[in-house]
Amino acid sequence: MPEKIVIIGSGPAGWTAALYAARANLNPVVYEGEPSSIMIPGGQLMYTTEVENYPGFPSGIKGPEMMDLFRKQAERFDTRIYTEDITSVDFNSHPFRLTSSENTEVEALAVIIATGARANWLNLPNEQRLAQTGGGVSACAICDGALPAYRDKLLVVVGGGDSAIEEGLYLTKFASKVIIAHRRDKLRASPIMQERAKTNTKVEFKWNSIVIDVLGEKLISGVRLQDTVTKEESDLGCGGLFIAIGHTPNTSFLNGKVELDKKGFVVTPKSWRTATSVEGVFAAGDVMDPYYKQAVSAAGTGCMASLDAERWLAHKGLA
Ligand SMILES: Cc1cc2nc3c(=O)[nH]c(=O)nc-3n(C[C@H](O)[C@H](O)[C@H](O)COP(=O)(O)OP(=O)(O)OC[C@H]3O[C@@H](n4cnc5c(N)ncnc54)[C@H](O)[C@@H]3O)c2cc1C
Repeated sequence: MPEKIVIIGSGPAGWTAALYAARANLNPVVYEGEPSSIMIPGGQLMYTTEVENYPGFPSGIKGPEMMDLFRKQAERFDTRIYTEDITSVDFNSHPFRLTSSENTEVEALAVIIATGARANWLNLPNEQRLAQTGGGVSACAICDGALPAYRDKLLVVVGGGDSAIEEGLYLTKFASKVIIAHRRDKLRASPIMQERAKTNTKVEFKWNSIVIDVLGEKLISGVRLQDTVTKEESDLGCGGLFIAIGHTPNTSFLNGKVELDKKGFVVTPKSWRTATSVEGVFAAGDVMDPYYKQAVSAAGTGCMASLDAERWLAHKGLA
């Protein structure tokens, strides 16, 4: 017997989709992913310390603790969970067929893709050490910028695209100064964003500069920069480092079976709907949202995907 609904991914989007599907008697299965060097079950929030902007937690909550609560709430309604990746999909016939990293095959009447998108890091040893311990390195200004640790400090942003400028401008609300370090001598960002940054008195640029190390034991004290032209190295004292060099959506396992945009995010053609290019396959969270990328918006689209799937199954007389 095929499963009524299979949910791939275990961040806020996946667990919320599971919770709604379970309470709608769809008896969902979640493939939460295998732990690896680049991803762990529970999603992006497993790599962070304080989450202060998820409603319902007035004193904030640690990211891993929050994801444990999400998982438990889905389990309470008998969600079945496999700690495996989905490695390939066959959406050409119905029921759909999914293959897992344990080489098992599962059939599904409806599928929700909630595999998230990984923030890109510079992959410097001290960057990860300080990012995972709340030491002043982050890949999300909107998530972390308002934390007391960053107030009135000089902050460094790495990147040159629209999101780097957006993050830099956002940080000027709290920082004493924001330095945007970019490896080239001009930005990739749109002219309007460039103009906004260049006219903001709190923003400065370090051109032709790459961050080659993060300094500090428990807390960041600065960054080591290298000039990409002269190769000269210099240290810059700072109270925070924000990496804004894009995200990589976890969609390679789809292997072209669902329409993706040019950056690899799943396309959901109708606005305010989670249906993908394949009827019966839905998407939720950061994997289909290159714009908001927040836990609460991921959970929101997880709810939407579950309701969309439930209504589609009912409409087709499948559940
Ligand atoms: C350092 C950091 C701090 C952040 N802090 C905040 C914050 O304070 N507040 C906030 O709102 N947002 C924050 N965010 C953003 C937030 O984490 C994301 O928006 C949110 O986690 C997206 O949820 P998601 O469910 O779409 O995907 P994810 O959380 O990315 O979860 C997807 C998970 O699916 C699983 N998976 C992937 N591929 C497969 C596969 N093939 N098969 C099975 N499983 C798979 C993996 O376990 C993966 O981790 C932060 C992000 C980062 C990087």
